[in-house]
Amino acid sequence: MIRPLDLELTQAALASSTLSHGLKFFGDRWTVQVMLSAFLGIRRFDELRSFSNIPRPTLSDRLRALVQVGVLKPRLYQDKPPRKEYHLTRKGLGLYDATLMVWAWEKKWGQRAQDLPKKLYHQTCQHHFNPELCCKACGEKISMKDLDFSLVPNLRLRDPAAKGLGTPRMSVRAASDMSLGLRVDRWCLLILSAVFLGCHYFDQITHVLGIGPKVLSSRLSDMTESQLLSCETDIHDARRRLYKLTPSSRDLFGYIVCLSNWASESHFLEPSSIRPRHRACQHRFAPLVACDHCHQNLNPWEVSFPTSKG
Ligand SMILES: [Zn+2]
Ligand SMILES: [Zn+2]
Repeated sequence: MIRPLDLELTQAALASSTLSHGLKFFGDRWTVQVMLSAFLGIRRFDELRSFSNIPRPTLSDRLRALVQVGVLKPRLYQDKPPRKEYHLTRKGLGLYDATLMVWAWEKKWGQRAQDLPKKLYHQTCQHHFNPELCCKACGEKISMKDLDFSLVPNLRLRDPAAKGLGTPRMSVRAASDMSLGLRVDRWCLLILSAVFLGCHYFDQITHVLGIGPKVLSSRLSDMTESQLLSCETDIHDARRRLYKLTPSSRDLFGYIVCLSNWASESHFLEPSSIRPRHRACQHRFAPLVACDHCHQNLNPWEVSFPTSKG
């Protein structure tokens, strides 16, 4: 639905969104990689390191941050030699929907599909399945175009430091080694969110995200090159370029909405400033990731897959 673009409102909503704050710790590729591995049942430091090819100090750093956020919990086993495993907590298990959306996206568009389960099996209905994004209220399958958005900036999330919201301190290091390896990092997802919300021009995106022109320019060309955005000359003004979503970036919507919802309900305990509504059922949209065979929600303990190494 066409909504007049209000740049100030969009800027305030993005800055106070649970997505933007959530991405401060789930926006770098190494963190996403560790979480994906945790859901594959990889729990020990050396296994995580060899599976994900993460440099040792980076892995230590990410594990510490994930324990601090409360999504992983270390357990010590008194074997010989003693071993330590990292287990998902209840809060961490809440990221399963977002993880399934990453798997589905990687399988379709990514370059690392070989590391991820090729097939998922739903033990409850005894069928192989693809995860699909549905509306929790009515159960219908959803894509971005089925939703309307209202923007309600949340002042309590405007400045998390002031409220002691506990954003972990990993921003400086994380920012320096973020790259588009997975092509799903914080800036990339925020730029896509700005485009989702109707900002199609360079000056609009730089305004709503407060991102410097040099950084934005290099990001936009990376994203255009990897086909996360299309870029065309504006028919009304040949000097301007128009950035649009592509089929692959539209498919990232599932991950974005699941992560944002998790950050809102399980971490910040604050409503998101970007509020989707399902046009067909008129309910506030909350995501539910379901089995495309039986349409039931998916729990990690009911899903099995062939091990990926082999
Ligand atoms: Zn609905
Ligand atoms: Zn099923």
